[in-house]
Amino acid sequence: MKKMIMLALTVATLLFTQTAFAELTKIADNVYSYIGSKEASPTNSFAANAGIVIGKDGVLVVDTLISAKEGERFLSDIRKVTNKPIKYVVNTHTHLDHALGNCVFARLGASVISHTADRKLMERVGADTLKNIGNYGLKPEDMIGTEIALPSLYFSDRLTIDLGDETVELIRTAPSHTEGSVVVSVPAKKLIFSGDILFTDFHPFLADGDFSGWAKTLDTLLAMDVEKIIPGHGPLSGKKDLKEMKEYLALFDSKARELAASSQDADAIAAELKQILPKRSLAEWMIAYNVKSRYLGKK
Ligand SMILES: [Zn+2]
Repeated sequence: MKKMIMLALTVATLLFTQTAFAELTKIADNVYSYIGSKEASPTNSFAANAGIVIGKDGVLVVDTLISAKEGERFLSDIRKVTNKPIKYVVNTHTHLDHALGNCVFARLGASVISHTADRKLMERVGADTLKNIGNYGLKPEDMIGTEIALPSLYFSDRLTIDLGDETVELIRTAPSHTEGSVVVSVPAKKLIFSGDILFTDFHPFLADGDFSGWAKTLDTLLAMDVEKIIPGHGPLSGKKDLKEMKEYLALFDSKARELAASSQDADAIAAELKQILPKRSLAEWMIAYNVKSRYLGKK
């Protein structure tokens, strides 16, 4: 009996340990998601998601997390699933929590791919971001081994990648979360990695966003033959989450604009917005940050 209890405790501890960090989860044949933990802290890449598509000829990695350390953690989990060469890394966009782990995969010889505009963004701000990493709540030791690895392949509207027995489409409709945010579609599996075009149960980062292009992009995704969506942050999602994201953005923009016309108090505006926005359990601090950066002209 005692042995049984000890075994149960060990299993429970193992389960807890595993769910405390991301792990690769098979969501279709050849496709795995790497969903961030429920707690969003700078050292765990703000719980950013990533994933892989495995083809006959090699592996395509979607996003690389916030540092070499986080990229290495992801890589060692990939190696538990496949030993095939990592041929491509796609950055859904080049914000730090999705792209500073690029260097880990570039060192292995993978080609890093992004939209042209987001390559420019990384070229413009990447080195400064790394230099001023304290602004993002990270310490220099969190970033050991991290170097800016710019995409070596970039495109404007659409790019098709043939992995031998699996085709992956990179699609960008309009500027959205960033000017060059792209979705990674695996048409045969009816699934997409949306990057930060979709945040689920997580208040979105809006500072670099283009709201009209974002709504147009969400409409494009809603019209696609898609059943599963891996968002940039949050759990495995579906089309109802895309609709809620569109509603969130429209509500945020109209109400924040109205409130900012008569107040400069970001926290008071954020408190009012919280009342009307769709409920989300993570990153509530983002509301006030977004109000400051977009509507009050300060960060
Ligand atoms: Zn982002």
